[in-house]
Amino acid sequence: MDQLTCSRCGAPVQSDDKKYQCECFTVYRQIAGKTLDYGDIQALFTKGETEIIHGFRSKNGNSFSARLLRKNNKPSFDFGCSERNQKSKVVVQVLEPGLVELQVFSKSVALREEIHFGLVSPQLTACYGAIAGCKIVLYGLGNESAKEKLMLETSNLLFTKYVLKIVRPRHAQIREGISYLWEILDGFSSWTVRYVPAKRPRLKGTPHSERFPRGIFPWLDAEIARQGDKILVKLSPDPAVCAQFTAAIKNVTEIEHGVFVVPPTVERAVCAWVRTVGKAFGDDLSANVKKE
Ligand SMILES: [Zn+2]
Repeated sequence: MDQLTCSRCGAPVQSDDKKYQCECFTVYRQIAGKTLDYGDIQALFTKGETEIIHGFRSKNGNSFSARLLRKNNKPSFDFGCSERNQKSKVVVQVLEPGLVELQVFSKSVALREEIHFGLVSPQLTACYGAIAGCKIVLYGLGNESAKEKLMLETSNLLFTKYVLKIVRPRHAQIREGISYLWEILDGFSSWTVRYVPAKRPRLKGTPHSERFPRGIFPWLDAEIARQGDKILVKLSPDPAVCAQFTAAIKNVTEIEHGVFVVPPTVERAVCAWVRTVGKAFGDDLSANVKKE
């Protein structure tokens, strides 16, 4: 094997059984659960970036794909979309009424979470999942969102027709949800919605996990205050947030849009919920990289 030289510092790349190293950069053979190919190592030291690598694992066990970049002294992840056309993609699979599997693939985000939205129709379930997914993408892109194309895939055919204005929903709640989603979609340069039949039907009798979904509302701003013997929780008036909050926390009463009263017994659960759903995606990954 030819001696590999770093194109940035010019030093020869040394290796041992754990890592490759020049004077400016260190690459561990294994990153986020994935053992890198020698080709990827070469690409990092010579070009400063790899092709998309599949099969990384995040801290909570989800697999993801990303490129690696040589920005500082160790590789960083780049999520510049696994599809060549640089679109962001949101996939909403309705597993059962009130439960979605949400997948988000965008420049700064690769997320896969199951989310409960309580006792709502399959169409509303899809709508809330789409709202959460599209807002995650917008949040991650910031000002760049106006140039971004969005692909929304969902396993609910009727919801797809609602979004495309082929069918007008009869119930007020879903009409409001769809209008809310359209406003979010306006934040992209263009968007498409596509019906993709469910690939993964949920098994009957699978116990629901009790944990809260992570990082699904990274932009969330919550106010929690004591009022007499009750706790007042003020969330943003987003229908997906309100539905998830009501589904996740026991004994919630909505007193006005986005404002809830809960008993003090669930205060800790509310705080844990806010922390978990509001967690920005990057937190997880930096934790992963440090661990190596
Ligand atoms: Zn170097």
